[in-house]
Amino acid sequence: MKQSQLFTKTERFAPKDEETKNAQLLTRAGFIEKLMAGVYNYLPLGLLTLRKIEQVVREEMNRIGGQEILMPMLHPKENWEKTQGWNNIDVLFKIKSRTEKEYALGQSEEEVVTPLVMRRARNEKNLPLAVYQIHWKFRDELRAKSGLLRGKEFFMKDMYSFHADQADFDKFYEIAKTAYLKIFKRLGLVAKVTEASGGSFSQKISYEFMVLTDAGEDDILYCDKCVFCVNREIAPSTSSGRAKENETCPKCKQGKLNRAKASEVGNVFDLGQKYGKDFDLGFTARDGTKKFPIMGCYGIGISRLMGVIVEKIHDDKGIVWPEAITPFKIHLLSLGQNERAEKIYDNLIKNNIEVLYDDRNISAGEKFADADLIGLPYRLVVSEKSLKAGGVELKRRSESKSKVIKEKDIIKNLK
Ligand code: ATP
Ligand code: MG
Repeated sequence: MKQSQLFTKTERFAPKDEETKNAQLLTRAGFIEKLMAGVYNYLPLGLLTLRKIEQVVREEMNRIGGQEILMPMLHPKENWEKTQGWNNIDVLFKIKSRTEKEYALGQSEEEVVTPLVMRRARNEKNLPLAVYQIHWKFRDELRAKSGLLRGKEFFMKDMYSFHADQADFDKFYEIAKTAYLKIFKRLGLVAKVTEASGGSFSQKISYEFMVLTDAGEDDILYCDKCVFCVNREIAPSTSSGRAKENETCPKCKQGKLNRAKASEVGNVFDLGQKYGKDFDLGFTARDGTKKFPIMGCYGIGISRLMGVIVEKIHDDKGIVWPEAITPFKIHLLSLGQNERAEKIYDNLIKNNIEVLYDDRNISAGEKFADADLIGLPYRLVVSEKSLKAGGVELKRRSESKSKVIKEKDIIKNLK
């Protein structure tokens, strides 16, 4: 992509009403623009990034047997009444049509996916099944002040699995947890897993995947020696006993518990038989009896992840994208050398290397500042100086050193 053709421009100052780094930097760099609190436009660079994150998640969901579908965002009221969600879920957006008919906007999709899948899985031999989608969700959140970390409209991957019995569910639950850790690692994040028993109502266990960041809204305790991690909201009731800040870890009995702020980037939840029962949709088991499926749901906040990654990886000049999800790998800057740069640009494209080419007629200082703000992993500068030194200047966004490489070695160096 040529930067002269990009319809978005970088901004020197962040909008006054944005409090978080992710919203400030992503807006200044031209990735997103706020329409209203908790609702953002995704501009060309932002959409490319979102799609990259989405693709990493998709690959890992496909790998564990998830089948991708797309479900509607507009839901009939009846389905939400069947599960008691219509009256009990405070974040549910409700819409009335001109004929006074009522609808809900999807804030989660158990109400749609349960009838969809269970009408087809009539028999035990049709199970297990896991379907997922990557789509918009709507929630009437009260405090939408954290940029992409908390939207009223946000992008989520939600998977739902259906099992004939608990053992089969437990097996898949572990597989999904492992896939989640792999996803966050691929995205360059370290996610801690909190164990949150589903409260006093059930023995069901949910796991939250937390990334430490001061912009996060969760308050966690984690062990500095082992994997123990717990949400402070439920800390007193963990299976491992009481957990308190600065005390010895109840799990390994060696480490100390640290308190930190974190953002929940994903979670997995044991839904039990609730939804099958609510819709009275079961299957015929091998022994001929009617049973309800054990279901699991598995969410990942795709747009929240984009915000969390910016919160975690930036410096005072701008964003520093990890290679796995950068909108482009290379930022090619021409300093008055468009003829030479154009050839390099064409060659990069021919070699399937994603490149943003700054061909604009502006000062070198502005180009460098923009490159740092946008944060692509590699910067290639073609200037009179670099050509005199024998080629083009290559620099990683995360390092301050640069080196001059020969034009013919560019592809080799980047690969
Ligand atoms: P939170 O406690 O942050 O409100 P949640 O428990 O309500 O999250 P889920 O319903 O499990 O979240 O949704 C799955 C994932 O979607 C979350 O782990 C999170 O990454 C993301 N998510 C949830 N709410 C939002 C939101 N308002 N904006 C952006 N992402 C969100
Ligand atoms: Mg919530």
